[in-house]
Amino acid sequence: MIGYAEPRVFLVGAGPGDPGLLTVRAVELLARADVVLYDQLVPKRLLDFAHPNAERMCVKDLPGKHPDKYPHIFDLMIERSRLGQTVVRLKGGDPLIFGRGGEEAEALAEAGVEYEIVPGVTAALAAAAYLEIPLTHRRHASAVALVTGHELPMKPGNKLDWEALAKFPGTLAIYMGIARLPLIVAELLRFGKSPETPAAIVERAGTGDMRTTYSTLVGLESARRQAGLEAPGLILIGEIVDHRVAQSWFEKKPLFGRRVLVTRPRRQAQGVMHTLERLGAVPYLLPTIEVREPLDWTAADAALAKVQAGNFDWLIFTSSNGVHAVMTRLKLLGKDVRALGHVKIAAIGDKTAEALAEYHIRAEVVPDQAVRSEGFAEQLKLHVSGTRILIARAEQGRDALRVKLAEIAAVEAVTVYRQVEAVDPNDDAMAALRRGEIHFVLLTSANIAKALVQSFDDTIRGRVQRGDIHLIAMSEEVDRTIRDAGLSTDEIAVEPSLTSLIEALIRSAASRAG
Ligand code: SAH
Repeated sequence: MIGYAEPRVFLVGAGPGDPGLLTVRAVELLARADVVLYDQLVPKRLLDFAHPNAERMCVKDLPGKHPDKYPHIFDLMIERSRLGQTVVRLKGGDPLIFGRGGEEAEALAEAGVEYEIVPGVTAALAAAAYLEIPLTHRRHASAVALVTGHELPMKPGNKLDWEALAKFPGTLAIYMGIARLPLIVAELLRFGKSPETPAAIVERAGTGDMRTTYSTLVGLESARRQAGLEAPGLILIGEIVDHRVAQSWFEKKPLFGRRVLVTRPRRQAQGVMHTLERLGAVPYLLPTIEVREPLDWTAADAALAKVQAGNFDWLIFTSSNGVHAVMTRLKLLGKDVRALGHVKIAAIGDKTAEALAEYHIRAEVVPDQAVRSEGFAEQLKLHVSGTRILIARAEQGRDALRVKLAEIAAVEAVTVYRQVEAVDPNDDAMAALRRGEIHFVLLTSANIAKALVQSFDDTIRGRVQRGDIHLIAMSEEVDRTIRDAGLSTDEIAVEPSLTSLIEALIRSAASRAG
């Protein structure tokens, strides 16, 4: 081979948890990794950026106990790279700040394996930005020290000089220090640091789950206990902590700290998850339905052949799923978009039109999505009277559209995809609902609402009935489905759109103290 082969192993910083704080390079590498080997503290959400077929392995599932896991981590990276696989070793924050990334790089070098290192946003920087506490300040802090709190001060061979740290003229950011907080405070006081020095502890900085407590150095441990903050957390000590704002830009977000369940199929959930994160919420994903191929393509294939032969005038897509299903099918049959050459196309809803645009198809008609099937039919009738129509739809698709159009045209409807119920009762998100950690659930369709509500056990039903879990419905139809199941929704979107659904969520959150 001529030229240069890229390394196969990448030590990648994942940042503190907000996907928005992944680097462009990290996203690019995740998307093409064959294996993602991640640390236990890396939020699962970031794994959504890996290719669906990538193997995801948590180091906790490797043999050995920390720190005896290390030979196994090294071996796995080396072995897989020799098999020609691309390995992303994903580590929280920055790989070279208390992440043992240096040791991993050394082991790779020794084995003659090439690698690259991708920096990440380290916890101290995330805490500073999301709390609006500048780590340096022209008047109050001219230096910042990143310190491990993991080494016992009196341990022989301890490399930390606590006397020097007590005198350090700037901000201390102490990692891994929560379990030894009383000792750390005692050491700093012993060497003359003022007991009144402002201090903070922050947990899960850089996510909607961020929690903080502020105190003086001497009162920090009791403040921590009172706030119920546990490891892992970051300790910030220094004058600048007093120069913070009352509420940071992030804490002011309308959904800050709200845990929200998204129930759409995984492939369609990313947009909402992203929006929720930008609003300060913590999104959880519990896919309730999955999109699958029809059990039998015979009828749809025959209809598509008729489209190609010019035997239909109109092809109507009722959802983006239908668009993707037809395009994927054409490809499998060795055809392409020209097989739809002469047919006119109608797309119900903007999302459907957008899906068509991905294949460079412009729909002739896009009926307004704010009306239901009967209304769509009325709008379509103006265009399709006396023509031959094919509707590509879901297996359990509502028949109203076909029936209405049949009054004025020759209509055939074929199944191009199925939606199957797919709630996993052992999913982490289900357990979080049961434990009462999630307070809001977004329901975007009647099918989804039905599948989800059916999967509720008595504990979860009880929580919904007591108003501890709020159900937010995208439409009146979803609301009806929920009422049919003997439960009630907290808010209904004014219009059946995601934007309107999020507005309904914000209303619901505003009525419930944080
Ligand atoms: N390489 C990581 C640090 C690993 S050590 C980085 O650069 O951030 C693990 C310690 O990092 C935890 O004990 C905690 O002190 C800190 N930490 C990591 N992520 C954090 C977060 N989101 N919020 C607060 N502290 C965090």
